[in-house]
Amino acid sequence: MNKIIIGVDVGGTNTKCGLVDTRGRVVDRARIDTRQYLSKQSLLFSAIVDTVLGLIQKYRGERSDILGVGMGLPGLIDTEKGIVRILPNIPGWRNVPLQRMMEDRLGLPTRIENDVNLITLGEWKYGAGIGCRNLVCMTLGTGVGSGLILDNRLYRGEGFAAGEIGHMPLKRHGLKCNCGGSACFERYVGNTVLVKKARRLFRDKTITLEQVSLLAAREDPRAVAFWHETAVTVGDALTGVVNLLNPRLIIIGGGVANAHRFLFKTITDTIRARAMTVQGAMFVIKRANLGDDAGLIGARVLVDNPDL
Ligand SMILES: [Zn+2]
Repeated sequence: MNKIIIGVDVGGTNTKCGLVDTRGRVVDRARIDTRQYLSKQSLLFSAIVDTVLGLIQKYRGERSDILGVGMGLPGLIDTEKGIVRILPNIPGWRNVPLQRMMEDRLGLPTRIENDVNLITLGEWKYGAGIGCRNLVCMTLGTGVGSGLILDNRLYRGEGFAAGEIGHMPLKRHGLKCNCGGSACFERYVGNTVLVKKARRLFRDKTITLEQVSLLAAREDPRAVAFWHETAVTVGDALTGVVNLLNPRLIIIGGGVANAHRFLFKTITDTIRARAMTVQGAMFVIKRANLGDDAGLIGARVLVDNPDL
């Protein structure tokens, strides 16, 4: 028996499509340059359908071996009705009944989900979070997001909008955020913000976070201090999360997590020093380990678990 599912992970830059087998392995894949299809919602939809049909055509097994489609999208998704409410970085996607549209075109049962939730499902069942009952999966990239597994279930919130860890305000006043708030966590540790900060600090208009990490590895004091300060900010923010949710595990992925060698110990120490006794003693931090495939693998979990 070799049942397959189709995963689609829509991003503002790339859209990944793949076939995922019963062991959570991506056995075939295709990529769409999302930016070519941003002018109209129907263009990107058609590109996704065509790419998926291409993968189905190449698939050597029986068509009846294909169980369904799982899709992740970067925005607010009504998973009960199967409607994309809004994608902040992809224009024209508002109240799109995507689940039905996919099912009509492909004749396969389809489920849609927020992209970070999909990554969380993948890491939970096939990655860093295997066997864990309560976890927070945080992506530290240009945006800062999270997915929550609470008591062995994906927690979506009343309006499917839970997990916006990057938009927890860290103080009363501060930098304005594109969510409409201010002093949001993301405004201190998002990739873009850190790059800007590093460029000011090193008076170098081209320095990258990778280069700051290389400098930190050579014990450059400014680079070490840069990552230390970042880690303390992350730790401060996560202390509240740990006290509130009492997770066993915090998984951290995304581009900024590439600097895990300079971040994770200080994040952990900061939380242990500040959190309440029970919560502070029982959490651990791990790096996400499915990389770019986490969303596709999460699609497998979504299709396999209709009750999630
Ligand atoms: Zn915000």
